[in-house]
Amino acid sequence: MNSAERIVPAALALCRSLGFEAGELPLSALIFHPEIRAICEENSCRNYSKSWACPPAVGTLEECRERCLGYAHFLLFSRAYVLEDSWDFQGMGEAHRDFQRQTDRLDEALGALGLPKPPLILSNEGCIRCKVCTWPASPCRFPEKLHPSLEGFGFLVSELAGAAGLSYRAKGGVTYFGAVLLPGEAGADTTEKESTKSY
Ligand code: SF4
Repeated sequence: MNSAERIVPAALALCRSLGFEAGELPLSALIFHPEIRAICEENSCRNYSKSWACPPAVGTLEECRERCLGYAHFLLFSRAYVLEDSWDFQGMGEAHRDFQRQTDRLDEALGALGLPKPPLILSNEGCIRCKVCTWPASPCRFPEKLHPSLEGFGFLVSELAGAAGLSYRAKGGVTYFGAVLLPGEAGADTTEKESTKSY
């Protein structure tokens, strides 16, 4: 049985058991947009150069691309949260913390799949694990739990959602997204990555 038959369905089932919507998209659908990195650098989200999970700490766009292409499968997952209104910043903060907790649970559960190497998990909007990040003075306190930013890798989340068949926006709320990159079975053919688009 190959990884697409064993690992992918098991990982999708784990995502869904944790309350995520989830879908797979082919590596050939991944586009690493320099324009999204440029938006990071404008720092409208105020996360740029604030943690190990965001640029510039995540490396250049080419390094992000190479990191992704070291895997065989890309799964997108999301969870929608209801807010009182678009000014419900407390609700947004709670939703983000819940999304991070559930993503941590997914990370732990994936460990039970016996993968040949650890998955790479990406998440929305940087890292909020510590009150004050160690960046850039010293290494991340929890490197094994570090889930870099999807946007920091140059991904346009609405584009990924469309390709994976997930809804992008929840009415009256906010939707957070993450991704899991999974290795193939040891020795499996990964030639799919040769056709991947890039800049
Ligand atoms: S886990 Fe802590 S030290 Fe590491 S990136 Fe997140 S906030 Fe920074």
